[in-house]
Amino acid sequence: MNTVLASCAVTEAVSRGRRFSEPPPAGRGEFQRDRDRIVHSTAFRRLEYKTQVFINHEGDLFRTRLTHSLEVAQLSRSMARALALNEDLAEAVALAHDLGHTPFGHAGQDTLNECMRHDGGFEHNLQSLRIVELLEERYAAFDGLNLCFETREGILKHCSLANARLLGEVGQRFLEGTQPSLEAQLVNLADEIAYNNHDVDDGLRAGLISLEQLESVAIFARCRREVEAKWPALQGRRLVHETVRRMIDIMAGELVAQTRANLAASGVKTLADVHRAPVLAAYPDALRPQLRELKTFLYDNLYHHAQVMQTIDQARRIVADLFGAYLAEPAQLPPEYQRRAQDGKARAIADYIAGMTDRYAVKEHQRLCAGGEFL
Ligand code: MG
Repeated sequence: MNTVLASCAVTEAVSRGRRFSEPPPAGRGEFQRDRDRIVHSTAFRRLEYKTQVFINHEGDLFRTRLTHSLEVAQLSRSMARALALNEDLAEAVALAHDLGHTPFGHAGQDTLNECMRHDGGFEHNLQSLRIVELLEERYAAFDGLNLCFETREGILKHCSLANARLLGEVGQRFLEGTQPSLEAQLVNLADEIAYNNHDVDDGLRAGLISLEQLESVAIFARCRREVEAKWPALQGRRLVHETVRRMIDIMAGELVAQTRANLAASGVKTLADVHRAPVLAAYPDALRPQLRELKTFLYDNLYHHAQVMQTIDQARRIVADLFGAYLAEPAQLPPEYQRRAQDGKARAIADYIAGMTDRYAVKEHQRLCAGGEFL
């Protein structure tokens, strides 16, 4: 951790603190305490068995939500350090950013959102906040983890105006059109850097995309040429890794440099200035079309690969079937969710399903939905 932070960094001195006041932590800072609470939460442990792109049981070497979150935390810390921002806050936000993800990745979230269309919808980002504010049951004095305002603000990357009105202080910025801390802005982009790169790596490993196809992606081709110029005989895993690590270096390095330049040009001095300024964490203009090209490539060739789509169809069926089964028979929910269902059946079911790991959802599907032989 930097000993001297930039004047616009989040510090404990300017923090809006916790909802329920607690004695200060001994031997660690408030944002380190937030990080520790996240790491010890149940939702965090479940990330190990939740899909990133590949369904959890498809292979032991692919990223899961847990390893993705760790990569986002690593990138966030490095970039926060380079800009003299609060690394501990960036790490806490990064580790928590995907806590609300359903089983089976985006397919699960989209299906749950459809199931909830008459009951307020379902959005994984909002669910991450709901977990740390309400659903984790660990402390005697409060629901959730009682995290600092800035950590919760960072977790809520986006949200509809309708939802923002219901969220109180963390929703305020969406109504006012102001920005979150620079630390939160960085984590948002670290997420993107992590998945764009690890999905290339995982996609190649799975054999769903090829090095030949990636020649059409300028940033990949450029980095590969650099590797081959230095190591002409390099092949296989090492060639892929040397190429991907160069792409990560370019993205993170140029993001830091551009953000530093934006900060200098903006005249931003304090955290209050950061809130009022336009978004300051950004890639240089020249890099953006290259990143768009990479994203489009992954979208067309990996996320929509026939083999991925097939498991997505099954995942959708599982989530929709489970939702229907609990709705028809709430007594199948565990007791704590039956209690929650008294305040809103659909929301309690969504909370329960969203918390499931991939394999638990498959098991419940087999138990509750006859003939459920999926995945
Ligand atoms: Mg993510």
